[in-house]
Amino acid sequence: MFVVALTGGIGSGKSTATKIFASFGVPIVDLDIISHELTRAGGLLIPALKETFGKEFIKHDGSLNREKMRHLVFSNPQSRLQLEEILHPAIHANALLKLAHNKYATYQILVIPLLVKTSPYLKNINRVLVVDSEESAQINRTMKRSGFTEQEVRNIMGAQMSRDERLAFADDVIKNEGDFDDLHKKIAHLHKKYINTCIVDD
Ligand code: ADP
Repeated sequence: MFVVALTGGIGSGKSTATKIFASFGVPIVDLDIISHELTRAGGLLIPALKETFGKEFIKHDGSLNREKMRHLVFSNPQSRLQLEEILHPAIHANALLKLAHNKYATYQILVIPLLVKTSPYLKNINRVLVVDSEESAQINRTMKRSGFTEQEVRNIMGAQMSRDERLAFADDVIKNEGDFDDLHKKIAHLHKKYINTCIVDD
């Protein structure tokens, strides 16, 4: 099983890069998507979240009120810890199942938005791929996509690993500083390299 972790700051182009890898047939396991699955209406974690934070954090449709939760954890570190204690083990267990399911693929991508040095995923990862962008591009793209203010994006970026720290972690870097075609070309090149590496490693 060959696993490439894909990471990058908010607005760096992780989701766009992931879609391109998927278009080449590479299986994708995305921790953000798993987190959404576990906290949507009927999701496995809804009862625990309701019990811990109260029913006002669950929307009428039965899904987690993510915006309300985001506001709470930004201002309250204790709540952040409580949330992480509920989310992280469940996401981890689910991600390991999904990785095992794809074990016969030449390689697969594990999207980890916030990769840290103490990450429990490190032992499951063969390479770390960082999608890297100028901070100004990250801010502009995220404002456009999510309607956040510049300050909101800066706050999120401030809570994430710095660009330099992230790059120090990388085995491979994709500089997402051109247009979509440029990104596509860079990923196609890397895809070829991974396929060759994985075949040699096997
Ligand atoms: P992330 O997943 O890292 O937060 P996204 O992939 O969602 O970032 O990119 C943020 C926004 O920027 C999206 O709207 C996406 O379409 C756009 N974007 C990303 N990379 C490029 C690019 N190379 N050219 C044009 N738009 C891009």
